[in-house]
Amino acid sequence: MATDSFGRRIDYLRISVTDRCNLRCIYCMPPEGVQWKPHDEMLSFEEIERFAKVAVQEGISKIRLTGGEPLVRHGIVDHVRRLREITGLEAIAITTNGTLLRRYAAELKEAGLERVNVSLDTLDPDTFAHVTRGGSLKAVLDGLEAAFEVGMDPVKLNVVVVRRLEQDLLGFARMTLERPLHVRFIEYMPVGGVSNEASCASGSTDIWTEDDYVPAEEILGRLQLEAIEAGLGELLPVAKNRAPGGWGPARYYRLGDAPGTLGVISPLSHHFCGECNRLRLTADGKLRTCLFSDDELDVRTVLRQGSEEDVHEIIRTALATKPASHNMRIGTVRGMSQIGG
Ligand code: SAM
Ligand code: SF4
Repeated sequence: MATDSFGRRIDYLRISVTDRCNLRCIYCMPPEGVQWKPHDEMLSFEEIERFAKVAVQEGISKIRLTGGEPLVRHGIVDHVRRLREITGLEAIAITTNGTLLRRYAAELKEAGLERVNVSLDTLDPDTFAHVTRGGSLKAVLDGLEAAFEVGMDPVKLNVVVVRRLEQDLLGFARMTLERPLHVRFIEYMPVGGVSNEASCASGSTDIWTEDDYVPAEEILGRLQLEAIEAGLGELLPVAKNRAPGGWGPARYYRLGDAPGTLGVISPLSHHFCGECNRLRLTADGKLRTCLFSDDELDVRTVLRQGSEEDVHEIIRTALATKPASHNMRIGTVRGMSQIGG
């Protein structure tokens, strides 16, 4: 079991397999797009798998693949299959924008991936096209459908709440009445925005403003009110042991006896740093100990020039230097598409 210097158990690794994406969400990517890293600066699948194997020996038991959009990287299904074979790894999950999920859901499931988080901020096709700068809502809903069809479990929906988008939160709540879908509303975070480099190189956006930030308590208040007004009943807290199996800090609620749940993730209004259980590996091979900290350890060089013991050592260094909490609201040099969410 791995613990950091504050006694937190660290058993969860998020791996960004690419900085590329087939969407351009306004809060995640700069309008001019991201200047993709050269191929040789990106970790190969073989390098990621070597790192993951050592990480599991050091105490990691859960891996989530993210990006950019993980499903745009060629060979992702075989990568999942090889990761799944690592002795000691309990589960693999993916966070995806869902656009390619219809194409890959069955193969991913067969390769050993059961848990999927689909990111979707609006159920209105025009707003969706605006937020993603041209994406198709239909493709994402179809991908979500495919996840259920192949039996992925749990299936979660990530909704970043941004005030100016005027999202229909109740529309998402209604979806939880129909099937075991776990919708999580996420506070909009000031990631990116302090880049000294050109934003297209760092993948940073600088559009976050305090005005667009909606605290979790406001999200819950709005949902509660709208659900009661619509005759859907009250939003009731779900006990931790009855919440959908998760690796993160969401707080869950349920509308009556709905099969699905509604959750909030509140990195800004409720620090959950004390329970933080994760490390992040970027697609270019940097290990981040905190989403909000730009301090990174150079895994890529160690994988290419060091020994296996050096890889163990860099993970131990990460555990020893993981900060107690984050400096929220100051932004980061790298944008979310490069860090992996
Ligand atoms: N492309 C995949 C997707 O969209 O799910 C995986 C990568 S994306 C960077 C991971 C998650 O980060 C998504 O759920 C996205 O909505 C979320 N995200 C991006 N920028 C964010 C921000 N500024 N605040 C909160 N969440 C953000
Ligand atoms: Fe792509 Fe995901 Fe970022 Fe949207 S949030 S631009 S889908 S990486």
